[in-house]
Amino acid sequence: MNYNFNKDFALQADASDPLNSYRDKFVFPEHLGKKALYFTGNSLGLMPKKVREYINEELDDWGKFGVEGHFQSRRPWYSYHENFNSMMAEIVGAKENEVVLMNGLTTNLHLMMISFYQPTEKRHKILCEKKAFPSDQYMLETQLKHHGYNPSEVLIEVGARDGEETIREEDILNAIEENKDELALIFIGGVNYYTGQLFDMKSITACAHKYGIIAGFDLAHGAGNVLLKLHDWDIDFACWCTYKYLNSGPGSVSGVYINEKHAQDQELNRFGGWWGHNKETRFLMEPGFQPIPTAEGWQLSNAPIFSMAPLLASLELFSNAGMRNLHSKGERLSGYLEYVVDEINKELAVPLEIITPREKSQRGCQLSIVAHGRGKELFDKLTDRGVIADWREPNVIRLAPVPMYNSFEDIFDFGIILKESLN
Ligand SMILES: *Cc1c(COP(=O)(O)O)cnc(C)c1O
Repeated sequence: MNYNFNKDFALQADASDPLNSYRDKFVFPEHLGKKALYFTGNSLGLMPKKVREYINEELDDWGKFGVEGHFQSRRPWYSYHENFNSMMAEIVGAKENEVVLMNGLTTNLHLMMISFYQPTEKRHKILCEKKAFPSDQYMLETQLKHHGYNPSEVLIEVGARDGEETIREEDILNAIEENKDELALIFIGGVNYYTGQLFDMKSITACAHKYGIIAGFDLAHGAGNVLLKLHDWDIDFACWCTYKYLNSGPGSVSGVYINEKHAQDQELNRFGGWWGHNKETRFLMEPGFQPIPTAEGWQLSNAPIFSMAPLLASLELFSNAGMRNLHSKGERLSGYLEYVVDEINKELAVPLEIITPREKSQRGCQLSIVAHGRGKELFDKLTDRGVIADWREPNVIRLAPVPMYNSFEDIFDFGIILKESLN
């Protein structure tokens, strides 16, 4: 795509975008009576208009049926989570029996650790990326303490080299080679929340498996953003939240992928609950946990219907639009944002720095921009003019043009506001 930093180009690009109509299926926050420039779908996705209807239907059915709604409502609650299997599997590149929706993300990470971190005297180290999302750091730290380890001795954190912002793939692979006999687990955020860097999960997993090491990923910033092939890449497990790119609403339910070879392993250590128990005998209420031989076998509780109903509305849009189409639009949108920032930089004494990889295969739609020499007042100026973005101290702006509902015009308008705010 040949970009231009002018309004006609942006309007033309929107007019020829086959996904342009999806924008109207979402509710936008407003600024002075107009749609705000919303670039924080990486933090909380917008609300699909259909959500209200889906939640109301569940309220109606609860009122109408009471407990009988488990079997008699239009989408019976007993098997409600099964409505998502095919659509969710499609988005992350898994088989239907490898995904389940349950709990919150950090809760699920802890549950995965119970199954996939089995330290022995010789093999007990975990490799992760430096500056992982805080919840992931705390999860690893407390899991290691639970096993009686000193986290600083057992955790190997691979970071960016001095003077660099992103982590080199080769440094991760080398760290695996160097610690191959002591590593039990590799656990990495597939897309880093701060820099937007996308890791090559296929190569990392292949390298881990060469030495019998388990590979798991946090895909909070990956699911619904980048193209994933969790099954084909032979990833062992992954978890993600659905309220970021998947638009399910604040604090909504998390997604889990467990490779079928593990799900079928009845001996694999796990914490059980009645919703993970064999469906045929669940209501006999007998002792003796028999896990369902799919990702559902990790469910503890019956499904939180009101947390899942919004996700149904959103995943239907993903299913219709197609992840491939969304991703390729996302590349064009982020490419346009990158172009606009580069254009603005031509006139700046101290340019803005994009710390997200320039290489498309190493990022999703988010760009993280360092506003050197400028503080929060730049961000406040943007906010005052209707830009909803994300600020990280001391001077990083994270912007996610989301292909599902952002437009080229959004980016053009943002560019003008950014340019004026810098002057
Ligand atoms: C957003 C995010 C979380 C949030 O965890 P919750 O348990 O959903 O609150 C955790 N890890 C990563 C990498 C994230 O991006």
